[in-house]
Amino acid sequence: MSEGAVKKEERRKFQAIRGTRDLLPPETVLWNRVEQTAHAVFGTFGFGEIRTPLLQTTDLFARSIGAETDVVSKEMYTLVDEMQGLPDPVDFAVSPEEYVDAVQEAIKGGEIQVTNSNLQALARLKSELALYNARTESSSEEAHLKFRLGASKIKFGDSISLSPEATANVCRAYIEHNMQQLPQPVKLYYLGPMFRRERPQKGRYRQFYQIGAEILGGTDAPAIDAEVIEMVMTFFEKLELQGVQLDINSIGDRNCRPKYVELLRAELLKVKDKLGADSQRRIETNPLRVLDSKLENEQAIIEKLPRIGDHLCKDCAEHYAAVKQELGLRAVKYRENWRLVRGLDYYMRTTFEITASGLGSQNAVCGGGRYDGLVELLGGPPAKGIGFAIGEDRLILSLQESGKAPAQQGRDVYIAWMGENARATAIRAAKNLRNAGFSVELPPVEQKFGKALGQADKLGARFALILGDNEVASGEWTLKTLADGSQQKLTELQLLDFLRKL
Ligand code: AMP
Repeated sequence: MSEGAVKKEERRKFQAIRGTRDLLPPETVLWNRVEQTAHAVFGTFGFGEIRTPLLQTTDLFARSIGAETDVVSKEMYTLVDEMQGLPDPVDFAVSPEEYVDAVQEAIKGGEIQVTNSNLQALARLKSELALYNARTESSSEEAHLKFRLGASKIKFGDSISLSPEATANVCRAYIEHNMQQLPQPVKLYYLGPMFRRERPQKGRYRQFYQIGAEILGGTDAPAIDAEVIEMVMTFFEKLELQGVQLDINSIGDRNCRPKYVELLRAELLKVKDKLGADSQRRIETNPLRVLDSKLENEQAIIEKLPRIGDHLCKDCAEHYAAVKQELGLRAVKYRENWRLVRGLDYYMRTTFEITASGLGSQNAVCGGGRYDGLVELLGGPPAKGIGFAIGEDRLILSLQESGKAPAQQGRDVYIAWMGENARATAIRAAKNLRNAGFSVELPPVEQKFGKALGQADKLGARFALILGDNEVASGEWTLKTLADGSQQKLTELQLLDFLRKL
């Protein structure tokens, strides 16, 4: 690199990495409002908040979401949490044999976990050792150097990933904390960032935020499915989200779904030539996902495919009918959508998705469904489960599009003060007003009243409290309403009273 290029690189401004973004005021006011509403509404349904670590063992997601899904196979941020405390292979004092022995000891002692990736790494290390042993005839120093180069690239440790979703995490926590001993079902909700390495676009980010809930254990009574859907709809109603459309479906269970999937696969094979490359691939990997296709030329073909609703077993059909009845009792409006299958492996029976307006092609704000057996699959006791995840970024986008966003994070009161006496009064007034819950801007240095009032305007303050020598001496303060320029004289007590009554 030329010197100029190096200098330019050094001066390069840092930017948030692709697919991630900063959330700034006043937008964060809306984020907080949304989150506070979630806490309040979910609380009224008896849900408690759970916070799980963002980093988890990669296997947790592979086993639950499915190793073949896009999320796990392509989109996770995965790294090897490198084992600490091994001798340094670059250290000449440690012979290659000693280094390999140390690694094997660490595997035996459990400091390095017996995972596929660690065993493969050990095999690679052993072949480096074999190469080294074969090389020693030429020059032992050179051979050692080559071993060092090879060995330092082989990493041991656990494969961990940033959470792409939270259901598996919550199920893991349910098992880890023996929550099956609590009164069932256990009702938990969470909110926080998730990570998927998707192609960024409007409404799709690599770090995005979800608000979700899970009901675990106990029964799979249809009223539970209906109540959890009712809860999301109540939350959206409280936020005045526009254009809300709830789609529901049942995708059967272990009895009936495999038979339907085979039937679907057989029918898809008959029309394979007419399908695009993605759908052709999915005939083998996951035929249900073909139903998700948005490709124009595939729509007519898909409409003629067999529908899961006609192939549910008796139990699933009864469960689905009862869910719909329970939704009716709760006055929740829904649309049945036989093509709603959801992308993750663990779903069964009830699935649902909610779309909202103002989002373009990425218009799903919430997805959810039943996942009985997932807890067991992760090594826990038999347990039923159902949950949903709301895409908070999209929820916020939709609220902004429909004009529900605050324009500015305004202040209630801007204190314009001048003079040494006024400084002390201003500090005291700010403290008292803030204690009473008002948002107050107190300029750190004295400034002329004209300038202070201009500043108050720019910040979107509702009132300016003017404190000069006269006000301090008389105890009668001047309060200016910035919208219309009107002024009134008030004592400190009267001021608090006046603001409280607004
Ligand atoms: P999923 O677990 O994929 O069904 O996701 C649930 C919800 O999270 C979706 O309906 C979206 O609203 C949201 N979501 C999923 N992936 C992203 C992403 N990459 N960026 C923004 N929101 C997302």
